[in-house]
Amino acid sequence: MAGKIIPDGDIRDAILDAGGEQAYKCYQCGTCMAVCPWSQVDSVVFPVYRTPQAVKYGSILNSEDPEDIEREVTEVYRCVGCEACSTRCPHAVSLPRIMRAIRRILVEFGSFPPELSDSVTRIQSAGNPFGEERERRADWASDADVPIFDGGQDFVYSPCCVPAYDPRAMKVARATVNALRLAGVSFGILGGKESCCSESLRRVGAEDVFQETASSNITAFAQAGATNVLVTSPHCMCTFANEYPEMGADFQVTHQVVLFQQLIREEKLNPSRPLGKRVVYHDPCTLGRQSGIFEQPREVLSSIPDLELLEIPHFSHENSLCCGGGSGGIWLERPKGERMSDIRVEQAAATGADILAVACPYCLQMFEDSVKTMGLDLEVKDIAELLADSLV
Ligand code: SF4
Ligand code: SF4
Repeated sequence: MAGKIIPDGDIRDAILDAGGEQAYKCYQCGTCMAVCPWSQVDSVVFPVYRTPQAVKYGSILNSEDPEDIEREVTEVYRCVGCEACSTRCPHAVSLPRIMRAIRRILVEFGSFPPELSDSVTRIQSAGNPFGEERERRADWASDADVPIFDGGQDFVYSPCCVPAYDPRAMKVARATVNALRLAGVSFGILGGKESCCSESLRRVGAEDVFQETASSNITAFAQAGATNVLVTSPHCMCTFANEYPEMGADFQVTHQVVLFQQLIREEKLNPSRPLGKRVVYHDPCTLGRQSGIFEQPREVLSSIPDLELLEIPHFSHENSLCCGGGSGGIWLERPKGERMSDIRVEQAAATGADILAVACPYCLQMFEDSVKTMGLDLEVKDIAELLADSLV
């Protein structure tokens, strides 16, 4: 982590120019710090309410002491963009937006964590954060006989980089296509023509690479004639629906749990095989708090016979605790004792559930890592997998 930081008061104007103007709306009430998931992590103090003030006074990123720089960079990259703060801020301040502006300055000066820098480079060169070959993006679909989108099907199915390349998460994409087929929904994929949605690029501050990758996706969707895109990841959903239109995208986006709920209501999907398990559902920040999709996943789970649906007390629905994977968190190695996902799987296990159900590939990956390292007797499954298992 090296590089020089702007050494004078110009830092304030630079952050404001990069999109941090909301710092002026903050009146230091401290609500954000109280609801931030870092307040659940005993070993970390993250006084995030001070950040807007530091921006206003230009008292951030203005040291040349390497230790100060390292401490500030760590703090700025703590924010996981869960928006627990912005949904409760009495002045509607978006701290993730302010953080993003600060991060843009850090990226510009090359002073951001090397793991993030590596992921940015891999997305820029290969179209995915793993650095896997672009041509292998459709490998997960090869034995499932999934067609390339030809403009005539109901949906372009965009599974997200994690299910496209990660062997565990591929099962989610395959479960999804099984359910769609049983319901008679037609779909195709773009395969190697598609790249990462790049949500995390924008959130870590790599705005130029975000613009470049998003533009190439928008062109690929337009050239394919896509009007309806079905996604597995709520991160893709939010980015396609909320950020791509400002760059000219013109297509509708649906998260698969919403489609599953509709297909079950229309009796095109009829879950009938009993599960015989207790399941607790984790609301992903991007699907729940940020998109208001709370009941659809619960309705899908409740349609599965012999599934007892549990809730995590105090921390469900809009109070859900982030898995820690947002805004680049999935690419950062956090030391033991600083992992939100560890706290979340403990909360889930304490309900007595056999299965922790998720609807986001980041949550799946973060929670599976935690369950393994903590040795918990808890399975982590995507709703698509539970649904597909119940369809006969
Ligand atoms: S909740 Fe909003 S107004 Fe209060 S300190 Fe945080 S950002 Fe500022
Ligand atoms: S977005 Fe989440 S992690 Fe970031 S400051 Fe707000 S509450 Fe904390």
